[in-house]
Amino acid sequence: MSENMSQTPLLEVNHLRKLFPAKSGFLSREKTFIKAVDDVSFTLMPRETLGVVGESGCGKSTMGRSVLRLIQPTEGEIIYKGQDFMKASGAELRKMRSDMQIIFQDPYASLNPRMTVGEIIAEPLNIQKKFSSKEETREHVIKTMEVVGLNPKYYNRYPHEFSGGQRQRIGIARAIVLRPSLIVCDEPVSALDVSIQSQVLNLLDDLQESMGMAYIFISHNLSVIKHISDRVMVMYLGHVVEMADKTELFSNPSHPYTQALMSAIPLPERHTKRKKILLQGDLPSPANPPSGCIFHTRCFMAQDICSKEKPELKDIGGGHFCACHFCDKCQKADGSVLLKKEPQ
Ligand code: SF4
Repeated sequence: MSENMSQTPLLEVNHLRKLFPAKSGFLSREKTFIKAVDDVSFTLMPRETLGVVGESGCGKSTMGRSVLRLIQPTEGEIIYKGQDFMKASGAELRKMRSDMQIIFQDPYASLNPRMTVGEIIAEPLNIQKKFSSKEETREHVIKTMEVVGLNPKYYNRYPHEFSGGQRQRIGIARAIVLRPSLIVCDEPVSALDVSIQSQVLNLLDDLQESMGMAYIFISHNLSVIKHISDRVMVMYLGHVVEMADKTELFSNPSHPYTQALMSAIPLPERHTKRKKILLQGDLPSPANPPSGCIFHTRCFMAQDICSKEKPELKDIGGGHFCACHFCDKCQKADGSVLLKKEPQ
């Protein structure tokens, strides 16, 4: 994670939306849509890590894939290195895509079992025709295997011969082999044992330090997000509800949803005073989101206005954005949060 970030964004995402057609009723002629990502905007600086957190089903993975156009967005603008990525096609699209890669959650499902490790890592180089000879390609693959901590003697082995952590290293090698500027990390450690998780997180940290990539790091785990991110974006039901610098967000969570997520982080025994906020009910259907504030059906601070008026995502100071009618009115002078209503 770099502190010296250049001032020109690597990526600008404006009003991104992704709707999926939903099955309508037997006699219904009305088309309904699942609003998986609804009006999401953010910027990402070079070498920055933007952590994206929220419950499963909040749209964070769809957002990450839409940014890479692995899923075609319904609407919105994606500006990558000053170029309009939504309008790119053919050779230009292929070239831009080679600079934007993804690491998937399930390292086993994302690796072709019929290909050797060497073939898997070499595939992006071959698609992009990076080298003219097999020897050069092999040399670059071996170098990349060493960078991610894989012994080159495994070049001809198959994915099933590896542990989960090693498979994720293969997935990381495939993502970095073209030396991209942006990687979307979609829950890259969720399927791994805790001891292996920290090894993979440290590897991603080291790679960013040495190669200067930016990450969009998607996870449902706030502790992981806290470890890896520079800034954090909290998503709920396809919307951004809060976004801030990591230190600011963790010391001053302003949206009730973020407060509830944070209250669930396990603390050491000596810090057990914090009250856990239990959210009522399940995540509403994105095909029929609640009116007004999308969080009002589960919010412990909800008031009359909340079901009627949608709160804007607004800057409540120093680049800390929050979408709540009351978020800028509930801060005490010492920075702690004054709850209008005690959580149940
Ligand atoms: Fe809760 Fe109302 Fe704020 Fe929404 S606007 S988060 S319902 S207090």
